[in-house]
Amino acid sequence: MMHDAAFDAAGIDARYVLRELDSDEVEPAVAEARGPEWLGLGVTAPYKRMVAELCDEVESDAATIGAVNNVVRTTDGRLVGINTDAPGFRAGVELAMGRPLAGTLVVVVGAGGAAHAVVHACLDGGATQVTIANRTPSSAAALAQRFAVVGGGATSAVALEDAAFVEALRATDLAVNATTVGMIDSGVTIPVPELPDDATVFDLVYVPAETPLVRAARDRGLRAANGSEMLIAQAAIAFERWTGVDGMHGVMRDAVGPLLADAGAVA
Ligand code: NAP
Repeated sequence: MMHDAAFDAAGIDARYVLRELDSDEVEPAVAEARGPEWLGLGVTAPYKRMVAELCDEVESDAATIGAVNNVVRTTDGRLVGINTDAPGFRAGVELAMGRPLAGTLVVVVGAGGAAHAVVHACLDGGATQVTIANRTPSSAAALAQRFAVVGGGATSAVALEDAAFVEALRATDLAVNATTVGMIDSGVTIPVPELPDDATVFDLVYVPAETPLVRAARDRGLRAANGSEMLIAQAAIAFERWTGVDGMHGVMRDAVGPLLADAGAVA
């Protein structure tokens, strides 16, 4: 809906086509996108790593994150893997915080593909400290280690049961849920009562529109946002990379807004 609205608004004769693929169908689908009628691809879980291997080139941010969520076809038919989740997150979270990421303390819960983009965006945006907590602590430790050298900020890993997790929450400017909890599993990953009064809560989940975490944060009077602005921002960046046309953010938000609002209504 977002991309087709933007194609229409830009006067580009193109359509965004959805395909659900088994793993053995991914390679031929990517090869097909080398054809001149293609602008590129969007990629979602669980193929963000696999598609990176099938590209001719992967941009350095996407390589550092270890995930490609969009592919751009160049005019000579080469496929370039990019990651728009990281800049999309940064746009969404800075809107939610009402300030830049620079100089902030951040706690991220989760260590999957999205968490990799979030941690990269925080450090790239100048966050001072990013503390990562995850259900599987070894994945949090690996993520902290992977990004130990990005930007000037520091990373550390804690277990969800650790006192250090609560300590980090009590001092944080921003708490991010980058797990599927709230969408696939019920519950909240972040104990909201532990957060300072001026903290912002950002939930990557956008269905339901008001996630349990966002509701708990708002009930406490905190700034809180779901992942819908990130979703729209990452799509607008991808559209610009495919077509060279920017400024489609508002068109895309108008197209998807009613759907995302309804997602809250039926949840
Ligand atoms: P993923 O790679 O499958 O990672 C899932 C993460 O959730 C892992 O850290 C996993 O912990 C954790 N988790 C799953 N069930 C849990 C539970 N019951 N309790 C605690 N932790 C649990 O998924 P992903 O691609 O990173 O996506 C994560 C979320 O971000 C999804 O909801 C996705 O829709 C959302 N997302 C939003 C946007 C956006 O634009 N707003 C973009 C990308 C992703 P373990 O390591 O212990 O399994």
